[in-house]
Amino acid sequence: MARNMFNRPCYVCGLIVDAGTGHFERHNGGWRTKHAVYPGDGRVTCAMAAQLQASTRLALAQKDSQP
Ligand SMILES: [Zn+2]
Repeated sequence: MARNMFNRPCYVCGLIVDAGTGHFERHNGGWRTKHAVYPGDGRVTCAMAAQLQASTRLALAQKDSQP
């Protein structure tokens, strides 16, 4: 597998894979993107993406609740 070069949704979890943090692979004559299988070296896994999104949502919610 090679590093993805574009921000694309992950076909496993549906969250965006930022360029260079996951992989792309051949599928049905096209390409599909997914998160990295193992973390490290700048890679982002599905679990990390979910955690990141949850913390971003929390931060936004907290920001919205501020006067
Ligand atoms: Zn994913």
